[in-house]
Amino acid sequence: MRNETFDLLVIGGGIVGAGVARDAASRGFRTALVERGDFASGTSGKTSRLIHGGLRYLQHYKVGLVRLAVRERDLLVERAPALVHPLPFLIPAYSGGKPGPALLRFGLFLYDVLSRKKLPRRAWLRPAGTKDREPRLRSGGLVGAGVYYDAWTDDARLVLSVLQDAAGLGAEIVNYVEVMDLMREGDRVVGARARDRFDESPFELRAAVVVNATGVWLDRLRTPRPHPTIRPTKGIHIFLPRAKVGNRHALALTTRRDHRIVFVLPWTDLTLVGTTDTDFRGDPDNMTPDTGDVAYLLEAVNDAFPDANVRPEDVVSAYAGLRPLIGRGGRKRPESDISREHALFLDPDGLISVAGGKLTTHRAMADAVVTTAATRLGRRVPSRTEGRDLGPAVRPLEDFMALGFDEPTALHLQSRHPPEQLRRHLTAPAARDRIVEGRPHIWAEADIAVDEEMALTLTDVLVRRLGLFYEAHDQAFDQAPEVAFRMAGLLGWDATRTAREVEEYRALVTAHRAFRVDHGG
Ligand SMILES: Cc1cc2nc3c(=O)[nH]c(=O)nc-3n(C[C@H](O)[C@H](O)[C@H](O)COP(=O)(O)OP(=O)(O)OC[C@H]3O[C@@H](n4cnc5c(N)ncnc54)[C@H](O)[C@@H]3O)c2cc1C
Repeated sequence: MRNETFDLLVIGGGIVGAGVARDAASRGFRTALVERGDFASGTSGKTSRLIHGGLRYLQHYKVGLVRLAVRERDLLVERAPALVHPLPFLIPAYSGGKPGPALLRFGLFLYDVLSRKKLPRRAWLRPAGTKDREPRLRSGGLVGAGVYYDAWTDDARLVLSVLQDAAGLGAEIVNYVEVMDLMREGDRVVGARARDRFDESPFELRAAVVVNATGVWLDRLRTPRPHPTIRPTKGIHIFLPRAKVGNRHALALTTRRDHRIVFVLPWTDLTLVGTTDTDFRGDPDNMTPDTGDVAYLLEAVNDAFPDANVRPEDVVSAYAGLRPLIGRGGRKRPESDISREHALFLDPDGLISVAGGKLTTHRAMADAVVTTAATRLGRRVPSRTEGRDLGPAVRPLEDFMALGFDEPTALHLQSRHPPEQLRRHLTAPAARDRIVEGRPHIWAEADIAVDEEMALTLTDVLVRRLGLFYEAHDQAFDQAPEVAFRMAGLLGWDATRTAREVEEYRALVTAHRAFRVDHGG
């Protein structure tokens, strides 16, 4: 990267930057991407993990936004079958609740119309049918439920797959490289000054076009302006034991407290619940779920599932993300009113900034960005991402069981690694053993993360590559030293570095458990 002038330099390795790099590489542009932390360590790794049209935006007549998202969802279901999985949702309706059944049924009709094909169509259940499907759902006042389809994904692994495809198409991609500022010649941006986050070495990156895809950090690289481009809102999620909540399917609940939609999603034997949406004015680098956020989600669950009785001490894990929403001017507006659409900002110095949008719409956003860049480069080559497969092909469960895995492990591995990749790592010591009792993650996955997925810290492995931070009861903290020790062998860490990795993970875990301490949990 130091010695080459690129057509396109992308700053930021979230889903948007990843999408831009993939699109640019698909058009044959020499592309580089730098991410200051790990891939998906920003907002893109802290989502509701849905690839969805956003049914609720229909209430605000955002038909164009929903149409785009639904079509991108359908494309991902078709083109990324190992990464994006159809998911049926129940949306219960209660008498006197909002939205009423008539409006809900109309919304579901429109949602289907906007989708070109693919996912099964909507249905309407009477109260008895609803209770058959979700026996532990609150019955008082239940007038029925809509059934509709969206899709789920593992957000951090989706970003990784987009980057892997970009790299396969020739893009140079690196994590733990931070852009400190932009380089200019005259009044034009011609590259960026960066530093390696491990050895602190500075270096320059030169490119004809620079794309700023830094999400909520967007304004740090743009020339100062009177009003911030981004008005971030905070959203948190919690994982709970599914047996405790009692949901069988995915549900979109409307809270009685403030009529917001909260998702209750199955995630193996856990339930993922989210999200909140509150104005955020703090430091985006230091942001964790607080007691009030968690209490809000627990209240929503307990209200919908009266026997659940979930409390802070039941929370397996919690995380918080910031939506990079586009603020319009400096006026104070309610959170729900801020634009969820994406926007491109073309600065006079040539910098292209892009923000907003969703995980779901990243490909379309990237197409728009790179089309603008292509015009600047004088090479109007069309994007090739629409017709391109993403991630591995879906392989039958038997291929994984043939490697000697039991069914839960095979199911877990099926959506993550092709059998050939696993086979390359199965001869390592304890490769087939589980890292944490009760979770299907095996040691070979940690090795793959380091050898083939550019994981460079303990946190990369436990949070984003394997997800044990979310799924294991104690965030796999007891196993963290052992994972660090194994990584040390692969990456040549000395004892000091290994201890530092464990310490950094401990600090992260502690910060994400702070909401419990307030409760004495
Ligand atoms: C709570 C929540 C739930 C959501 N749920 C969904 C969902 O279910 N489905 C959906 O479709 N969308 C969802 N979204 C929206 C979606 O997650 C975001 O729109 C999307 O992830 C934004 O991606 P991004 O690449 O712009 O930002 P980010 O993922 O934040 O990426 C920006 C990257 O830039 C890096 N960076 C910053 N400064 C520098 C620098 N100087 N040098 C190098 N790198 C730098 C950061 O480290 C970061 O990784 C959700 C958002 C939130 C907050």
